[in-house]
Amino acid sequence: MKKPEVLIVGAGIAGPALAYWLSRTGYRPTVVEHARQLRSGGSAIVVKGPAIPVADRMGILPQLRGLATRNRSLPLLDPGGRRILQLPLTSDKAPTVPLTLLTGYQTPAALRRTGKKRLESWLRNRKVLRADLLAGTALEVAGHQHTSLPGEKLTAQMVHTLAVEVMALNQQVAEIDKAIEARFREHQDYEVITSMPGLGVIPGAEFLAATGGDMSAFGTADRLAGFGGVAPMPRDSGKISGNLRRPRRYNRRLQRVFYISALFSIRRCEESRRFYERERAEGKRHIQAVLALARRRVNVLWALLRDGRTYELAPPTALAA
Ligand SMILES: Cc1cc2nc3c(=O)[nH]c(=O)nc-3n(C[C@H](O)[C@H](O)[C@H](O)COP(=O)(O)OP(=O)(O)OC[C@H]3O[C@@H](n4cnc5c(N)ncnc54)[C@H](O)[C@@H]3O)c2cc1C
Repeated sequence: MKKPEVLIVGAGIAGPALAYWLSRTGYRPTVVEHARQLRSGGSAIVVKGPAIPVADRMGILPQLRGLATRNRSLPLLDPGGRRILQLPLTSDKAPTVPLTLLTGYQTPAALRRTGKKRLESWLRNRKVLRADLLAGTALEVAGHQHTSLPGEKLTAQMVHTLAVEVMALNQQVAEIDKAIEARFREHQDYEVITSMPGLGVIPGAEFLAATGGDMSAFGTADRLAGFGGVAPMPRDSGKISGNLRRPRRYNRRLQRVFYISALFSIRRCEESRRFYERERAEGKRHIQAVLALARRRVNVLWALLRDGRTYELAPPTALAA
């Protein structure tokens, strides 16, 4: 039978990804793109959250890791190639410093009118670190930009409003994250859950949110694994037994927690890596091997929660044996 054809417009992220998945499920996709060539410019992108299992399932995670720049900060250059700002990328407060500046000063002219001394104390009052450096750089760059564009005033007002709103939202997100972490730390199983390699504070909290935290509601580790979409379910009927199928209904958020934490544990925990490699050596594909590891880890987590014990990494000597 002829494969159905699909036309996809745009070869950004979504287009080629869709083409990949459609071609795996029996379609013949064609991707068209109006850009004449690959663009050489762009911004560093952060790959996290749901993008990780998707990239993993497409088999491109090792390449992505290989391409990782591991930049901890991003230089912002003016049109002449001079450095204006160095944005930290790793902290929660990454965009705070330039945003703070934008809440008060949106145009080069406004910066020039203020002058270095006043700008510096304005930044310091807003708890900006290295206020002297930032004020100096901003003024230096503003000194080179005398062109004023039509509509600049209106744009400046909009930038001000947006910067204030983004700062407020950032603040709210940071407070919610803190509250979640504090609440999770108070939970009786906090130590046990976060002792599992690859299961950090946020995925740990997600595990509690998805399961309700009460393991007795599941009764067995098998049921928990089934609910989390990492265990084959029995398809027994009448006299036929022993048939297994992938579950169709499961909690997707929990599956993501189980899958990603298993994936991370391969890099962080010797035991997980060995288990994964054994599965691969037995012929399982990557995703199957990660799911098998995730399934195995549900048993471990289940036992730890039942016994109130934390996960202990096997000592290197035992592993070497
Ligand atoms: C500054 C910036 C930083 C970002 N950082 C991150 C990040 O760190 N992490 C993250 O996950 N996301 C980030 N994003 C968001 C991410 O870039 C987008 O979510 C993602 O690119 C969207 O992918 P897309 O394929 O839907 O669209 P796009 O990547 O925009 O691709 C659309 C493509 O379609 C083409 N096209 C449009 N119209 C036509 C047409 N008529 N005919 C043919 N081709 C056409 C365009 O040329 C383009 O190549 C960032 C975005 C910006 C702007």
